[in-house]
Amino acid sequence: VKIDHMSAEVTDSNPYSRLMALKRMGVVKEYERIRKVSVLIVGLGGVGSVAAEMLTRCGIGKLLLFDYDVVELANMNRLFFRPEHAGLRKTEAAMATLESINPDVCLEGHTYDVTSVPHFEHFLDRLRRGGPDGRSPVHLVLSCVDNYAARTAINQACNEADVAWMESGVSEDAVSGHIQTLFPGRTACFECLPPLLVASGREESTLRREGVCAASLPTTMGIVAGLLVQNALKYLLDFGDLSYYLGYSALTDHFPRHTLWPNPDCGNIWCRRRQETWRGKGRAWHRRETDC
Ligand code: ATP
Ligand code: ZN
Repeated sequence: VKIDHMSAEVTDSNPYSRLMALKRMGVVKEYERIRKVSVLIVGLGGVGSVAAEMLTRCGIGKLLLFDYDVVELANMNRLFFRPEHAGLRKTEAAMATLESINPDVCLEGHTYDVTSVPHFEHFLDRLRRGGPDGRSPVHLVLSCVDNYAARTAINQACNEADVAWMESGVSEDAVSGHIQTLFPGRTACFECLPPLLVASGREESTLRREGVCAASLPTTMGIVAGLLVQNALKYLLDFGDLSYYLGYSALTDHFPRHTLWPNPDCGNIWCRRRQETWRGKGRAWHRRETDC
């Protein structure tokens, strides 16, 4: 059933009326601009699939979904996917479910490895031209992957295309997580402050212990997805205080919060270029101008 979105009257049966109440209550100035927003999500695992569902239920204009994997029964300890999805590509199963929840959202899905050389150019093109009009850049990228190689590829693409992104992670023991906001040239990029692994130059695969599987909890992943999408909505709809780094420790219910500044000697040339441009402009902190 297609629902006439944002213009709809306030009735209990209209899902958009509760979202528009945010505007009437003064939390958000123009909630309806979410219909013109395009978000690209890499990784449809425990965090990314839930983030995609939240944005779909918020009435986002367009979602571009990337994942190279298929749904497995082993994924059922997370939210979103169901046993009947087992064996299907995550992108296809996700698109079918999201479409049934909210057919107003424009969906695009790609099943490939974003780190692979032949696909990286296509990935970069979708960042640059994946906006709702098919010409402008996406407004935001959400990184919901579980490895450094993929995060490094996303960092590279966002620095090159000058697109804002938010990164998320859940620890191997499933009891802590974090989100981070990265504005090329304005905040630390993923290579400005390399995690020990990247700084050591070691292959990530050599660090994985054979036969030892990581723990995972739907609670931690759901909480991290909620923190990520809440921060994304603040950025996209311009309300509240954005978090630049927000940690979550489940054992102590501690949420450390910091801002990470860019490193002028960052090893990523596109990061250094974006820093130069940003210094040259001397602009005040503000969200990227959008056509919304
Ligand atoms: P697990 O590894 O614990 O069995 P998972 O692979 O679903 O489960 P999550 O952390 O829940 O792990 O999700 C991460 C998601 O990111 C996965 O769906 C994975 O396929 C996807 N992903 C990781 N790297 C890439 C990549 N380079 N390109 C595309 N998708 C990726
Ligand atoms: Zn950098």
